[in-house]
Amino acid sequence: MQRITILGATGSIGQNTLAVVGLHPERYQVFALTAHSRLEELAKLCQQYQPCYAVIQHEQDISKLQALLGQSSTEILAGEQALAWVAAHEQCDTVMAAIVGAAGLLPTLAAVKAGKRVLLANKESLVMAGQVFMQAVIDHNATLLPIDSEHNAIFQCLPNNYQQGLSKVGVERILLTASGGPFREFSAEQLQKVTPEQACKHPNWVMGRKISVDSATLMNKGLEFIEACWLFDAKPSQVQVVIHPQSIIHSLVQYIDGSTLAQLGNPDMRTPIANALAYPERIQAGVSALDLCQHQLQFYPPDEQRFPCLGLARQAMQAGGTAPAILNAANEVAVAAFLNEELPFVAISQLIDTVLTQLPMSSAHNLDTILQADQQARALAQQKISLFSN
Ligand code: NAD
Ligand code: MG
Repeated sequence: MQRITILGATGSIGQNTLAVVGLHPERYQVFALTAHSRLEELAKLCQQYQPCYAVIQHEQDISKLQALLGQSSTEILAGEQALAWVAAHEQCDTVMAAIVGAAGLLPTLAAVKAGKRVLLANKESLVMAGQVFMQAVIDHNATLLPIDSEHNAIFQCLPNNYQQGLSKVGVERILLTASGGPFREFSAEQLQKVTPEQACKHPNWVMGRKISVDSATLMNKGLEFIEACWLFDAKPSQVQVVIHPQSIIHSLVQYIDGSTLAQLGNPDMRTPIANALAYPERIQAGVSALDLCQHQLQFYPPDEQRFPCLGLARQAMQAGGTAPAILNAANEVAVAAFLNEELPFVAISQLIDTVLTQLPMSSAHNLDTILQADQQARALAQQKISLFSN
C-alpha cells in the first residue's frame, strides 16, 4: 500500500490524481490533501478519501473547514510549514507535487529531502532551483518521476540507465512537442486583443488558469525546455521544440542510430499520472485507448517572433544561475496581471524581457540566493507593469 500526499489536491492535476487513486483502493491510500483556499472542494475530497491530514493556507480558515467536515478523523493544519511537514512525514511514501508556481518549491523540496517518491507536476520548482533540486534528489536518495506529459513521455522513451548520461546511452536529441496553444494561428495583430477567457480555452487540455496562459504564450514550453534539461541532464542544444497541434505524440527521443521513439496517447493527464504512480508497473488510468485512424498528425517549427517567451526561456537556461528563477517569477507576475486584465497578452513577454535584462543574475548554488532573486524579480515586474498596461 502506497500512502500519498497530494500537494494541490483541488487543482486540475490534484483531481486527476485522485481519479486514478480512486480506481485502485487496494494500492493507494490518501495520507494528506492540501489546498490554497477552495475549502468546499477540499472538504468534499476529504469526505471521499478520508486523509489523515488536510492542509490549507490560512490559519483563520481552519474552523470553516472543520465546520464543513463535521465529524471527521481528518486533522486540519495551515500554513507553509504544514505543507512541508505532510510532504516529509514518515507515514507518507509518495508525494504528488501539484501546487502551481513558486509556492510549490519548498514543500516539494521537503519531500525530496525526506527521500520520498516524488511525482513532479510543479515544473516551476525545477525551473527556479534546478541545480539545488537535482542535487537534493541525489543526496537524499529520492525518486523523481515526471508528471508533465512531455517529460513523462521522454522518460518512457529513454532506457532505464539514462542517468549515466544521454550521450553514453546513445541519445542524440530530445524532441519536446507543443500544441501551439489556442493562438497558434493568430496573427501578431490578432494577438494584441486576446482576452484571458480566450487564453484559458486550450484546444486539447483542460488545465489550471496559469498553465493555460503559459500554453498560450508558449512560456509553458519554455519552462518545459528548462525542466527537460534538468530532469534528463540534457544540454540546451540537445532539446528541440516541435509544434504538434493534435497533442497525440507527447514527446520523442532520437538516438544516434537513426531511431526515433515516441510515446502516444489521448491527451489526458491520468495517463502520465498512472504511469508515475505505478512505475515500473502499469495500471488502469481510466483513459480510452488511442484510435490512430481518427487522427492526422502534423509537425512544424515554432514561430518565436509571435511567441517570444520560448526564446526568453532558452536564453535564461543558457545564461544559467538565477536567470531561470528570474524568468519564472516575472512570468508569474505577468500572467497574474494579464488574468486581472491589467496587462495585454503581448506585453507578457515584454515585461519578462525587461526584468531579465535589468536584474543582474548570480550563481544559484543555494536556496536563499534563489528565493532572493525570485522576490527581486517579482518586485521589479510589479513595478514595471504600468509601463505596458492598457
Ligand atoms: P490549478 O490551478 O488547477 O491547481 C493548483 C493547486 O495549487 C490548487 O490545488 C491550489 O489550491 C494550489 N495552490 C495554488 N497556490 C497555492 C499556494 N500559494 N500555496 C499552496 N497551494 C496553492 O493548477 P494545475 O493545472 O493543476 O497545475 C498544477 C501544476 O502542475 C503546475 O505547476 C502546472 O504547471 C503543472 N502541470 C499541470 C498540467 C495540467 O494538465 N493541468 C500539466 C502539466 C503540468
Ligand atoms: Mg506539459
